[in-house]
Amino acid sequence: MTKKPFTPPCGTGCAATQMELFAEPTVPPAPPTVFDWDAHDFVVVGDSGGKDSGALVHEVCTQADKAGQLHKVHVLHCDLGRTTRGHLVEWPGALEVARAHAKQYGVPFAVRRSKRWPSLWYRILNHGNWPGHFARYCTSDTKTVTGRDHADEIGGGMRLGRPYRAGYAMGMRAEESRARAKKPVTERHRMSGAGTLRVVTTWLPIHGLTTEEVWQIHQENGIAHHEAYDRGMRRLSCRACPLAHTDDLVRSAQLNPGIFDEYAEAEANMGHPFKKNITLKRIIELARS
Ligand code: SF4
Repeated sequence: MTKKPFTPPCGTGCAATQMELFAEPTVPPAPPTVFDWDAHDFVVVGDSGGKDSGALVHEVCTQADKAGQLHKVHVLHCDLGRTTRGHLVEWPGALEVARAHAKQYGVPFAVRRSKRWPSLWYRILNHGNWPGHFARYCTSDTKTVTGRDHADEIGGGMRLGRPYRAGYAMGMRAEESRARAKKPVTERHRMSGAGTLRVVTTWLPIHGLTTEEVWQIHQENGIAHHEAYDRGMRRLSCRACPLAHTDDLVRSAQLNPGIFDEYAEAEANMGHPFKKNITLKRIIELARS
């Protein structure tokens, strides 16, 4: 089996990766596109445990059920591992929320981790600088590759005797940024062309939903959400993400002092600020003031 990858962007619903977080999008969402279930052997749904993932799993499973194709749906959570001191990089409980999403709809759930890096933390230390808008090695190396490997795992297990055809569903929404608003709802991935042994369609089933609609889907369908939202977080991602809004980082630092202290020590050792415009040291000061 070739390891020539398909590389969906941040394949498991990385909620804080928007290029223009909180910017007013000027591009309307792409028109809804009907996903062609018959043309795909299975669909992997990336679930980070965040609110968009809950709505995503609902939307995919509802459409699949109507089409008689629920057996094709697989939910994947990418485990980002722990820091040197044993802190979870993700919010504790995110994995369990993702598992609850899959269980509610009766579809298989898998947790996978990068085969190369023990955790995102070690990947960052190896890189020697923090991820950023133009250095998204965090998602590509710990989520995207992991999602690809899982699709290969499912496709290989089906013993089709031909390259598999997979859908890869992600929770990106147009409302999040101008860049995301421009994305088509379905797109043949660029690595699916001649010479590759797989055909992958990226699919954004909740591209047109607003934040309010996402929460409405949760309420109407009794979908589990992470308690961090009830404690003032607007987004669920890595507990300390350089691409997150500073307000969310300050709130996260209040709720997660241990991991922020460890990250701040790494910041001092690296000699690079966590975000371009603010250091972790300052974020922690704001959190404690
Ligand atoms: S640091 Fe974590 S949440 Fe932030 S972009 Fe990277 S993988 Fe996503």
